[in-house]
Amino acid sequence: PFFYLPLRIALSSRRPRIYDPTCDSRRDHHSYSATKYHRTPSPQPSPYLLAKLRDYEDLHRRCGPLSDPTLNPQEFRTDDCKFVVYAPSQGLGNRILGLSSTFLYALLTNRVLLVEFGPDMEDLFCEPFPNSTWYLPETFPFRFQLQSHRFRKAYSFGTLLQKKEEDQQNSAPALLQIFLQDKYNDYDKLFFRDENQGFVHRVPWLALVHDGYLIPCLFQMQSFRSELEKLFPDQETVFHHLAKYLLSPSNEAWEHITGFYKAYLAKAEERIGFQIRVFEPKKTTFPAVMKQIMSCTQKHRILPQSRSKSIFVASLSRKYYEEIDSMYGERSHGGIAVYQASHEGKQHFGDNSHNMKAWMDIYLLSMSDVLVTSSMSTFGYVAAGIAGVRPWIVMIPDPYHPRGADEPSCERAVNIEPCFHFPPWFAYPDQPGTVGPVARCEDVSWGLKIV
Ligand code: GDP
Repeated sequence: PFFYLPLRIALSSRRPRIYDPTCDSRRDHHSYSATKYHRTPSPQPSPYLLAKLRDYEDLHRRCGPLSDPTLNPQEFRTDDCKFVVYAPSQGLGNRILGLSSTFLYALLTNRVLLVEFGPDMEDLFCEPFPNSTWYLPETFPFRFQLQSHRFRKAYSFGTLLQKKEEDQQNSAPALLQIFLQDKYNDYDKLFFRDENQGFVHRVPWLALVHDGYLIPCLFQMQSFRSELEKLFPDQETVFHHLAKYLLSPSNEAWEHITGFYKAYLAKAEERIGFQIRVFEPKKTTFPAVMKQIMSCTQKHRILPQSRSKSIFVASLSRKYYEEIDSMYGERSHGGIAVYQASHEGKQHFGDNSHNMKAWMDIYLLSMSDVLVTSSMSTFGYVAAGIAGVRPWIVMIPDPYHPRGADEPSCERAVNIEPCFHFPPWFAYPDQPGTVGPVARCEDVSWGLKIV
């Protein structure tokens, strides 16, 4: 039978992790310094969103870990609290989109967001929720198993639907995995159907396993539509507000970011960020990528020579930085200084210092006035979303999507919202019952974004 055991866990983490009121990046974000780092005016959150966040903080304080350290774990009851656990797996850009989506789902469904971060995610962010922590307690019975295939087979929403064991009327399991990774099946996808939310709502513990920007699909659902409209009257800034609230760089990350900024970027009158992401570097040639970038920047006059500028290049490879520097750098033209903070060669997994560099690159990109990003890359979506800058998205050729000579080398994003790459078919705007302001993405024809 499916898992109907009562799930009672001790919500007191052994390791004292807690909200830090002295988070420098959060302080700077709320002060005059914010305009120094991000010159594009930040959109203002709605009063309704602010009130919702304060209510959420109360809920998290009441229900979340460390809320009452005197509580005997055996007696801990989660009866009137519900949780959603976020367990990430892919790159940092993907994770940030997944985390932001899960948080919005928590807000919409009055759940407490807890995160299961491994050591590779240590100290990237300040904890967001006052007087509590967002870490999943170490006493949680299924730690680091939430994403496993076995766990999915036993405890996922999709499996349960497939076996027809969901009981829409009566009992609900104590814990349900919601598997929404790119290879999710037709049963898993039914999570995005309004008629299943009532059942999901009765489950006290959800584990969302995904790394994508689910929010366009939430906008397509009747269940959430009116609340989303109230929270985000300007719906093209959803990710921006969520990320700015949830993901403040830790003091360590902030030191790296502001140190680099002050040393190299602060003086420029205009800052241009290039984010160059090549998914298949063995099959996509350097000249082919460079050609797309140059064709885009020349056509749209992204690099005129008049003012004092800096170019910040984020890429795993050093070659793009060297090429751009040789073409536009101070040595050849004067005026334009070209920088790169790191060049890691390739994506690493499970590596904290690599993730710290990625976070630093994302944030430094977000301090640009003009952004040139790469198609299909969540890394670029996150930078543009935090920046509040509509990027020029360069169509990076790859073996599966060779770009024809008559196709544009880049497209200006219609807004700063990220793209969700793997929506279910029934969430497309031309399907009956969809209700949101959602369209196909500029760079991924099968993806959806809020417009
Ligand atoms: P995506 O794969 O482009 O959608 O972006 P993700 O962030 O999800 O995954 C790519 C991962 O590769 C990042 O998290 C980094 O670990 C690494 N990476 C890719 N591009 C860069 C870059 O420009 N700078 C740094 N430091 N790391 C990068």
